[in-house]
Amino acid sequence: MSQHIAENLHDVQQRIAAACATAQRPSPDVTLLAVSKTWPAEDVLTAWQAGQSAFGENYVQEGVAKIERLRELAPQAPLEWHFIGPLQSNKTALVAQNFHWVHSIDRLKIAQRLSQQRDVHLPPLQVCLQVNVSGEDSKSGIAPAEIEALAHEVAQLPRLHLRGLMCIPEPTDDPAVLQARFGLLRDWQARLNAQGLTIDTLSMGMSHDLEEAIAAGSTLVRVGTAIFGARHYPHTNS
Ligand SMILES: *Cc1c(COP(=O)(O)O)cnc(C)c1O
Repeated sequence: MSQHIAENLHDVQQRIAAACATAQRPSPDVTLLAVSKTWPAEDVLTAWQAGQSAFGENYVQEGVAKIERLRELAPQAPLEWHFIGPLQSNKTALVAQNFHWVHSIDRLKIAQRLSQQRDVHLPPLQVCLQVNVSGEDSKSGIAPAEIEALAHEVAQLPRLHLRGLMCIPEPTDDPAVLQARFGLLRDWQARLNAQGLTIDTLSMGMSHDLEEAIAAGSTLVRVGTAIFGARHYPHTNS
């Protein structure tokens, strides 16, 4: 059990290194976020023991319970927790108090609440705006036309640090489509930086498309299945 997580982590690191080499980018430019949603705290501990320190969670209650469990299991482990799922207003306080990053900011109200609720003794919450790059009604995230206004507003919030943009393209194996989706985010990063913001993070790429994302400039890939295995049960609580 623990063996396969360590081996999978190694394989994913190799994939990232190979993709960086192909793109002529240094591999330290790309952070691996291990998406541990639906997996128990013990698997996070195993991944930590294999050298992984950043973990992503999609569901507030599940994530907070796991964070607390890890504080008991490994009080000395400096784990970094990223919230990457849809976020409702009534759950922002828990996220503001427990996570280091939020990738799924999709409206000003959520960002304002997170800023107000972030403890002054904690470092600012690191955040990304989630962009709907595929134009599907079902997907969360802001439309590209909304990026500029929201980015400048979020950048003003005192307890948040705007770091970047995040996307989840529609499921596809078409490299041209992936290139277009990821390229859209990279172009917006350049545009926002030209306007005086400091956008250093492109959160894009998952188990099946991390190579395309890295080729397009990703600085953080969010990988679940390729590390922990196929998720078996659907989750509906957020
Ligand atoms: C589940 C999830 C991932 C990981 O997806 P895999 O295909 O299992 O690698 C990445 N990002 C988000 C936002 C997710 O919800």
